Amino acid sequence: MPARTINFQNAECSACHKKHVDIRTEIVAPSSDRPNAIRKKIIFRCEDHLYYDVDDIEKLALVKIRFQNIEESDLMDGLTFLKQLDSD
Ligand SMILES: [Zn+2]
Repeated sequence: MPARTINFQNAECSACHKKHVDIRTEIVAPSSDRPNAIRKKIIFRCEDHLYYDVDDIEKLALVKIRFQNIEESDLMDGLTFLKQLDSD
């Protein structure tokens, strides 16, 4: 995925697609491949996620990224899905 410049004015909440109201740099838990590295992350929070802690935001962010990365070809239209059910 190409690096994107963060537009701080219009950035979305890290956990969802709402506009952020708060930006903070947070220390996040080390990843398993680099257990000794301290990672800092810029976390954007919207009103809904303002009081979530970093770990929760991280989890939600992973879900969000996963859905963003779904290719259109990965998605099936409803008709194809129904046909597959019928073929069993
Ligand atoms: Zn949010």
